[in-house]
This record gives sequence, structure tokens and C-alpha cells, in this order.
Amino acid sequence: MSSAPIAANQLDVVLRNVADGITAQRADGSLAYANNAAARLLGLESGDELIGLPGSELLQRFRILDEDGEQMAPDELPNRRAFVSRRPEEGVVGYTLLPDGEERWSFVRSTPILSDTGDAELVINVIHDVTAERAAHERARLVDETGAVFAASIDTDATFDALAKLLVPRLADYCIVDMIDDGTLRQVVISHRDPEREQLLRDLRRRYPPDENPAHPVSQVLETGEPYLVEDAREAALVRAAVDEEHLELYRRLDATSYIVVPLEARGRLLGTISLGTGESRRQFTNADLSLARELARRAALAIDNALLFEAAQQSYAQLNTLLVSAPVGIGFWDRDLRFVRVNDALAAINGLTPEEHVGRELGEVVGDLAPVLVPLYRRVLETGEPIVHTESTADAALQRGERRHWLSSYYPVHTADGEVIGIGSVIMEITDRKRADDRLRLLAEAGELFSTSLEQDEIATRIAQVGVPRLAHTCNVYVVRDDVLVRVACVAADSAVQGVLESLPSSFALQEESGQIANVFRRGEPLLLRTVSSDYLEELERLGADREAFERIGTRSLLLVPIVARGETLGILTLGSRIADRFDEHDLDLGTELAGRAGVAMENARLVGELRRGAQAAQALEFVGDGVFLVDRDGVILLWNPAAARITGLPEHQVFGVRADAVLTDWPLGQGERPQTFPVEGRDGELWLSLTAAEFPHGTVYAFRDLTEERAVEQLKSDFVSTVSHELRTPLAAIYGAAMTLQRSDVDLNEAQEAGMLEVIAGESERLARIVNDILLASRLDSGAATVEIGRTNAAELARGVLAAAKAHLPATIELALIAPEPSPQVAADPDGLRQVLVNLVENAIKYSPEGGRVELELAPSDGRVRFAVRDRGLGIPASEHERIFEKFFRIDPNLSRGVGGTGLGLYISREIVRRMGGRIRVESEPGRGSTFSFELPLA
Ligand code: ADP
Repeated sequence: MSSAPIAANQLDVVLRNVADGITAQRADGSLAYANNAAARLLGLESGDELIGLPGSELLQRFRILDEDGEQMAPDELPNRRAFVSRRPEEGVVGYTLLPDGEERWSFVRSTPILSDTGDAELVINVIHDVTAERAAHERARLVDETGAVFAASIDTDATFDALAKLLVPRLADYCIVDMIDDGTLRQVVISHRDPEREQLLRDLRRRYPPDENPAHPVSQVLETGEPYLVEDAREAALVRAAVDEEHLELYRRLDATSYIVVPLEARGRLLGTISLGTGESRRQFTNADLSLARELARRAALAIDNALLFEAAQQSYAQLNTLLVSAPVGIGFWDRDLRFVRVNDALAAINGLTPEEHVGRELGEVVGDLAPVLVPLYRRVLETGEPIVHTESTADAALQRGERRHWLSSYYPVHTADGEVIGIGSVIMEITDRKRADDRLRLLAEAGELFSTSLEQDEIATRIAQVGVPRLAHTCNVYVVRDDVLVRVACVAADSAVQGVLESLPSSFALQEESGQIANVFRRGEPLLLRTVSSDYLEELERLGADREAFERIGTRSLLLVPIVARGETLGILTLGSRIADRFDEHDLDLGTELAGRAGVAMENARLVGELRRGAQAAQALEFVGDGVFLVDRDGVILLWNPAAARITGLPEHQVFGVRADAVLTDWPLGQGERPQTFPVEGRDGELWLSLTAAEFPHGTVYAFRDLTEERAVEQLKSDFVSTVSHELRTPLAAIYGAAMTLQRSDVDLNEAQEAGMLEVIAGESERLARIVNDILLASRLDSGAATVEIGRTNAAELARGVLAAAKAHLPATIELALIAPEPSPQVAADPDGLRQVLVNLVENAIKYSPEGGRVELELAPSDGRVRFAVRDRGLGIPASEHERIFEKFFRIDPNLSRGVGGTGLGLYISREIVRRMGGRIRVESEPGRGSTFSFELPLA
């Protein structure tokens, strides 16, 4: 290729059209030449236009930045330096075109054209636009630096702080990071290049938090997960995002130009957003910035996610470690050689070493006696890779206090991530307590059942002893208090050889001050644990009469003294003794106390049942007693009402039970003290006379009452009788007395007939007197059973005829007597005197109670081997209500109803009794005003 020189105009054409800007500058700063590319770099159309601008104006069109983005002094520009140094100079120059703020970067090479004197007259600047490269480089650097920041920190907030410092002001004028924390938005970082505006930004955020504004870009991004870019934050965009005027005003003051919001997203989870904005720099974000922001956000999110994961892992490791160390179960790890790798505190304690002392030792070194059991188990786990759950009690060696300890262990293989078994893990739980609790429950349940099946205190005591020995103790004694003395009611020794010795110990303790621990336990009602029986106690027993040698032979070394308490009352004492020193502890004391508690309840029940039995007997007596008995509580409410009370009053129990006595027993003299009160009440069948006695007791009053109605009626009859009889006797006596006096008088001359009449009166009235007296005597003999009858063959008609004949002697004229008797006269089995007396009574009554007169019939009617005797009148008659009572002794119908006819009320009583003695029954048919018929039957003879 030839290289012929080109003409100046051709050169101009070339220069004008190259891509790089080319200018020629004079020492005074003015341009001698500028091609179009140079003009375009500065926002002008053509080189000529650029040349036309004065130097000062040219500089005002843009702000120059150095490589770090800081403002550059004009002297530092390569062209200026070339004038001074007279050597070619070069450098990267950034410049922001004013006023729209577009930032551009150029690589500038300035070559001085020296004059002959060596001065630089002209500098040729070749300006190569490196904006794109610069931006790419800048991004790469940012990404790089942020990577370092993220890698260095595991603290999220610090990471974002560092990120903000990297981005502001290099990429943006401000940066805000929001993180979702427990569902709410937390502003982690807010950073602005201008502190004043940062404050403004904080105010803005505080007053208009994004999560309360769905239109806010942050809210939008959180909702969609898509980045958000506003290249040109003009008024319209601000109005869209602003909630109200004031919000808008704040945006304006922020001088917002452009902004970006990108999501912080890791493993599909939105963690928050990064917001970047420009203001005073006038920078407009481009899609390239958006990509950069997204990349940064992605890395940030990843870093945070890692930090969170790390934190979580740290935490869970810490938790696991804490768990391991402080777990109440023993946990241990062994390597394949069965050497301890690690054990926790609990397992260390079980083995009696510190955790550190375990590490590196072999299993056998630590748990020698268990090794024969454990080593095969461990080997099996290593070989099979299968876990083993082992429930055997593996601590026979730990036979402290005579008790086995129990463990529940499981062994499992420990794998690496790729499945290789590198050792064994084990979880070991002591279940001694649980076993003990189980045993305890079983014992108590058994005891409860045993106790509940007996209702005898001593039997229960024996059962307690049997439950306690030998499971809980070697010996057991039960004492029960009786009259201030603790009396032994049961004692059992596990060793039968000792039983006799145990029985030889004192069998009672008087509850006096000096009677020592046993009495103390009883008095205080609190149990006593003698872990190891001291010589003090032995001395005390000796003082109380125990033979020390005997006690030695029994060999009690550990002792429990437990009061037997029921319903707050101490009934006695339970002692449990063990031959093993230190055998008993608080657990056993608790168990003993519970056992005694159950025994107490059973004993108390036995006592109650005894009481109930006695009570039941009393109640039974009340059931059968003839007296009415009822009980009221202190409020006067009836709590007991015996059957007699119900029978007498006619008030059934259900009507009065639980009711106040004064409400049902209205007329009763309930509150009138303990002296018997006799009073009438309205009964079911008329008036009742009751006698009531009261007895107070602490919880109320018991009343007893009896029905005096009959007694009272008898009393009444008796007093009536006295007056009747006096009257009945006085009448004939007066007549006899009158007649006798008349006969005696010497001044009165009586003829024979008159004398005979007087004597007849005397004889007749005497007979009447005698009859009354006879009746009274006969009635009382019949009463006492002294009167008997002699049954014989009696001619009924003949006897009846005689009775009627006798009656005729004093028969009122208005009465007509008649005998109706079959022929031949029937013979009856009767006492003739008795039968006559009965017929006389009945016929006399028939005449007496027929004041108007009328026919009186005596009928004898044989039927069915018997003869019916009937005396019929047409007289006053008897009300039905009195049909029974007229046969009672002394009973007389109200004289007003019987028209004042005299009598003693004995006639029918005597008749009934005589007929009954002859094997018959007397009855009456009668209606007032229509007459009466008295009848009875006697067997034919
Ligand atoms: P008294 O001596 O009163 O007659 P009784 O025992 O013979 O005693 O009779 C008892 C009561 O029976 C009499 O008071 C009378 O009221 C009544 N009574 C007895 N017999 C008759 C009769 N036939 N008609 C009417 N009332 C009679």
C-alpha cells in the first residue's frame, strides 16, 4: 500500500468524520480546531459550533470529574498538563453535561505541538469516549467490592451498611434497604450522600412508611417480586407514588431524579428490597443500572441467606449442645473402638466421673462391671447398624440402700453423611423413680383393697402389718390409742425367728410426757424418719421397758414412725423397721404415711360402721316402739318420724320429713320443756289425746308421745260412772230410807196394806241396789277373769219364759211382752245363770229404752245346729256410730239421747262377756227411732 501524503482539506474531511473527538487548543484555552465528534461529546452539533464558543463558556457547560468521580480542577486536565509539561499527557476524564446531568467518560490524550522555541503553542486532544467501558468497569468493580463485603460479614445489618457505603455515591445518591422481619418491613439502612437530605429521607420514610402505601415502589416490588425502575422521576411519577400533598412536597424537596427498587430474593424467598435513588447528581438510571442493582441484590440476598443459615446452624448447634450437656437423660458417644468420645453431665454423673474424664477411655475402664453386658450390645449395633432398645436393669452393682436402680437405655449407630458407621450413641434414662412409683402404687392399691374388705379395727391393723412386711420393712408394729394408752394391736416380723422377740417388746405405751418418740409422733400427728436408729432411741426404748438385747436381736437399723390419722384425728401409730441401716428415706416416709392414711380411713370406716350398726339397732327399735318418736334439729326441722308417730297422728313420714315441726304439728306444745304435756289434737277419727315428752340433745330435740285417747276415755268413763252409780244408788237408797223412816214413825198410823206397801218398796229397792252392786262386782270379776261359766244342757224356751215372767212384775202398761219360741223347746249348751242374766239385761234394756211403749219380743230361732236368741224392741234405737261402744264397760249413750233413762253402763258389757264365754258373739242391729235388735247364737245341746 502506498502512503502518499494527503492534502490539508482531505485531512479535515477525515478528522471531521472520525469517531473520536479531536480538538486543537491554544494556550489561552480557545479552540483552533474541533471535529464533529468532539462537538457531539459535549452536546453540540458540529465542530464549528464548538469552536465558536469562548473558552470560559465552554467550561461552564460541564462539570469535570476525576477517575474516582470527584470534581477535577481544570489544571489537572491532560490538555492543561500538556501545555505545562510540553509532553504528551493522558488520563480519564469524566464530565457531567450541565444542566441535564448526563455523565460521560473519555480517555483523553493531549499532545503538545511545540514551537521552535520549545513552547507549546497548540495541544492536540484526542478524546475517546469510554463511557460504556467505564460504566462496565465500574459495575464490575462494584460487584467485586460488594462480593468482598458480603463475604467478610455474617451480620446482616453490618453487611447492608457496607453495601450502602459502596453504592453511595458511586451508583446512587441514596440507598435504602428494607428487610421483612417477622412479616413486617424493617428499614435496615438509609444512607444519602447529603446528610441533610438523609434526614429528609428518614422523615419521609417515617411519615409515609412503604408498607402502609400499596402504591409505594417498595410495596409494589414486594408484591410482584419484579424490579422497579423509574428512569425519569418527573412530576407525574412523584404524583403517582405520593399519598398526599405533603408527601409530594417531601418528594420534591428530595429532588428525586431517578430510582430503582430491586427485590432481595434467596431460595425463592423474598427477604426485602434495596432502593437506590438519584437526586442532585441528576443521574438517570438505565437498564444497565437496573441489571447491576439486581445482581448486587442477588448477591446480597445470597449473603444474607447464608448468614441466616449460618446463624440458624450456629443456634441449633448451640441448642443441641446445650441439650446434650444439660439433658436429664444420660447421652454418650463412643467410637468404633468403644472409647468414650463424649458424654453429657447426666451420664457422667451416673458413672461417677466428670465428662472430661470419660473422653478417650474404653467402655470397660469406666463401667467395668457392666462391660460384659454392654460390650456385646455395642458390637451388635456397630455390626448391624441397627439401634437397640435395652430395658434391663443394669445396675445390680448400684445396690445402695438395699435397692436396685433401674435404667432404660437405647443404643444407636452414628453415621457419617455417606452412611459409614463411625461410632455409637446412647441415651440412658434412670427409671428407678418410675419403677419405685409403680411399686408404690401397686402396694397402696393392694393395701386399699385389703383394708377395705375388713370392718374390724384389729383385723385392719394386722393387714397393714402384712402389707408392710416384707416388702417395705423387716418388722411392722401397729398401735391404737385406747384410754390414753397406745396399745399394740398387730406386730409382724419378716423373719419368723424374730417374731417371738418382737412380741416380747412392750405392747403398750402410756401417753405421758416422758414416753418418748412414739408418744411424740402420736401427739403431734407427724411422721418421724430415723434413717439410722441411734443409741439415744435404744436408750429411750430401754427406759420404756424394752429389753435392749431383744431389740438387738431384731436388728432394726432404720425406722419409720408414722401416725395413723383419719379425719384429723390420730387413731394410732404404725412403725416400720428395717435391718439395713439407712434403708429408709423421705420417699419411704411418704409411702408409710400414705399407707397409714389408708389404714386410718379403713379403721375410721370400721368405727363408723360399728356406730352405724348401733345406730341401726336404735333405729330399728324406733321402728317398732309403740310410742310416737320424732327428732328435730336445732332449727326445729323434723329429721326422724317413726312409724308409731305416723300411725298415731295419721301423718305419713314423707309429709313431715324435712318440714319444720311447728308448721305441721300446729297445736302441739313443742316448746314447753321436758315435762310431759297432755293435749288434744284433731286426729283422723276425731279427737286424740296425746302426752308429749321432749328431750334436748346437742343437735336438736327428741320428742316422744303416746296416744292417751283410750286411757283418757276410760278415765272419763270412770268419773262418769262414779257420778252415775252414785245417782243410781242414791235413788233406791232414798226410797228405802223413806219407807223405813215411815214405818218407824210412832205418830203415823199405817194400816196393814200401807205397811205392806212400804215393805215392798224396801224389798224392791233393796233388790235393785243389790243388782247394781252385783253388776259392778260381776263386771270386775269378768274383767279380772275370775268369773267363769259352767256350760250345761239348758232348756232355752223355759229359761226365756222365766225371764219374761220376772219382767212382767214391773212392766209398764204400754209394753207388750212376747216370746217366740219353737216347739219343742231347743236345748242349748249354756250356763243357765249366765244365759238368764244376759236375757234379763237385754229384755230390761228393751223395756227401758222404749219410753213410748211398744212390743218387746224375745225370739228363739234354731238354725244349723245353733239357736239364735234375739231381743227386739220398737224403742229409741241406737246411732250406728255407737253400735260398738255400747258394749264397752261403763259406756252409756248421752243421756239426752236416751231420754234420761238411768243405768250404769254395765249391762251390755256383762252380756257380751258372758255370751263370749259361752262361745257366742253378741251383736246389735238398730236405727235411731226404729228400735233395736240384740242377738246372739248358742250351740244346740
Ligand atoms: P245401761 O245400764 O245404761 O242400760 P247397758 O250396758 O245395758 O247400760 O246399755 C248401754 C247403753 O246402750 C245404754 O245406756 C243405752 O243407751 C244403750 N241401749 C242398750 N239397750 C238398748 C235398747 N234396747 N234400745 C236403745 N238403747 C239401748
